[in-house]
Amino acid sequence: MELLRREEAVAHHLRGEDGRNEADFSDVANYTASDEVLEGLEETALAEIRQIQAALERVEAGSYGFCTSCGAPISPGRLEALPSAPLCLACASRVAP
Ligand SMILES: [Zn+2]
Repeated sequence: MELLRREEAVAHHLRGEDGRNEADFSDVANYTASDEVLEGLEETALAEIRQIQAALERVEAGSYGFCTSCGAPISPGRLEALPSAPLCLACASRVAP
């Protein structure tokens, strides 16, 4: 359950419950503002964090591990590779560009 603990830590951090969330994020923003490559990485990181947050909401709702599209269980191997995966492999390959 190491990954879940990490996700909880990220969510905890995002909610600012540790009291230094805002400072951290503005530091990151200042650091990356002048560098397009790092900005791109930051966007990727934020998208990942949003996925993790959505996954945490599903953990709380008891629907974690089930596809948000068709409701089928997501395979353990897929969850291991992508713990925040919202879709089963079949649905993910349907919506993937
Ligand atoms: Zn599905």
